[in-house]
Amino acid sequence: MNSKVLGHQGVEQMFTKALQKGHLHHAWLLYGMKGIGKDVLAEKLAAYLMCDTQSACGVCHGCQMLKAGSHPDVFRAGLIEGKRDLNIEQVRGVLAFLALSGAESGRRVVILDDAERMNGQAANALLKGLEEPTEGSMLLMVCADLERLPATIRSRCMLQQCSPLCDQDVRLVLQKLNPPVEDRYLDLAVSVAGGSPGAVACLQDRKIADAMLEWQALVADMARADVGKIDNWIRNHLKTVPHGLIVQMMTNAAYPVLQTPCLDADAFSRHESIQQALHLCARWPADVVRHSLRAGPALLACILQLRTALKA
Ligand SMILES: [Zn+2]
Repeated sequence: MNSKVLGHQGVEQMFTKALQKGHLHHAWLLYGMKGIGKDVLAEKLAAYLMCDTQSACGVCHGCQMLKAGSHPDVFRAGLIEGKRDLNIEQVRGVLAFLALSGAESGRRVVILDDAERMNGQAANALLKGLEEPTEGSMLLMVCADLERLPATIRSRCMLQQCSPLCDQDVRLVLQKLNPPVEDRYLDLAVSVAGGSPGAVACLQDRKIADAMLEWQALVADMARADVGKIDNWIRNHLKTVPHGLIVQMMTNAAYPVLQTPCLDADAFSRHESIQQALHLCARWPADVVRHSLRAGPALLACILQLRTALKA
């Protein structure tokens, strides 16, 4: 069956149109926030090239081999776990592969994930390859932070922005995971996903999902929140629940207060201190790393500041 990529139909259409016209650029750069399925999209685009009927049908010999990860004309590279960056040896491997002639399809496709993690040497090597592409070769680069890629590389690629998914698509993706995110967690998941199913895929784990539901209830009315219970939750769950999501739930809870109009100076200064506290909360995950803080006490301090601001 033809597998559907959620949320990136525009990019897919551009690609297939160019393919049909025979005007396909040799290097595409798919960029956008983490967790929105850019890698899935890249696989789909590769399928159009490897498919016997150029339709990514999912059933032909080419599509089947691609799905099994065993197509001889497709090569995947990306950041190796535990490594800091993509190195020059990896890029040399990519270029050597692109220079071969296609065994099955007459084409060679490389999917290069985490492209922004290339170090300087690797990027320079890739640049040379981009300047002299071999016929029939296609480089599909996936990148979560466009600014980190040298402009010289960006300018030689067909840039395609991939947008965050709409809530409905986030929901669908989460339901299709294996195991799926259970229905009772979906509203919470969508509310903190920010359009990125990957950011909330951890809710597949019921323990994490339950802890998050508990947190949501604890911070829902922050001005009257029970600090003892919050402290307890932090002790029990801080290690398992991603810090970004903890903050997101606090922000979601405080945000409606900021929507009320400021009619006088007092209200204005209250809004200001709430915003300052939220800013502090948002910086907490990074501050913990940057200043080697103890995560729990630092979070509690943020919460107390937010609570005071909301109470005022
Ligand atoms: Zn096919």
